Amino acid sequence: MTGISAGSARLLGVFGGTFDPVHCGHVAVADALMRALPLSRIIFVPAARPPHRPAPTACARDRLAMLRLALASDRRFAIDETEYEREGPSYMVDTLAVLRARHKEPLALILGMDAFVSLPAWHRWRRILGLAHVVIVSRPGLEGALPEWIRPRLVETPEALLETGSGRAFLFTASARPESATALRQALADGTAPVAWLPDGVPDYIEAHGLYRRASRNDES
Ligand code: ATP
Repeated sequence: MTGISAGSARLLGVFGGTFDPVHCGHVAVADALMRALPLSRIIFVPAARPPHRPAPTACARDRLAMLRLALASDRRFAIDETEYEREGPSYMVDTLAVLRARHKEPLALILGMDAFVSLPAWHRWRRILGLAHVVIVSRPGLEGALPEWIRPRLVETPEALLETGSGRAFLFTASARPESATALRQALADGTAPVAWLPDGVPDYIEAHGLYRRASRNDES
């Protein structure tokens, strides 16, 4: 079941991330994009071994389990485990090549502004723009951060992404969300995590598996 009806072309959203842990900001952004853009669905791609940032705090298996809990009840979302099946660093360019071969729809790579500004440091990043469009999602505090180099690729409406297979960019400003996994990890370590930032089932998983605790807190309890 693809959700695509005859004559209504759609994009396939690709939402990569470390998801350490997944938070309500991720889910809310995906929901807002599904409503605003011509997307058939969004595939979340958890990075098994993210190459462009410090090693995650939670292991790949736990991050995947939390993502499954967060997305379980929504059929518009799927999880692709392709990066768990490969050896070595989880390069997005390799993932997009796999998804491009598997799916007919043009790909729309979803990136928060913080991730987007670091794109030129990613492995074979120019090739990424040959495999997918980019949907850039604003984040609080980064509203003015759009780099000049992307401007020639920007389109005014998301429908314009359907006119070609890759290489265009759309800036999505409608859903700036305050959640951040870095802030969550810090709060969880301090024992002050805002549970409202975590999707249903995730707080219980974190508690049951003792994730994100400061070692000294464990020692004290
Ligand atoms: P960290 O703080 O550990 O970097 P994060 O909250 O940015 O984590 P990631 O798993 O790194 O979460 O993010 C995956 C993708 O989701 C990235 O493209 C990121 O920019 C985007 N994203 C995360 N949180 C938000 C948010 N609140 N609003 C918009 N985009 C977001």
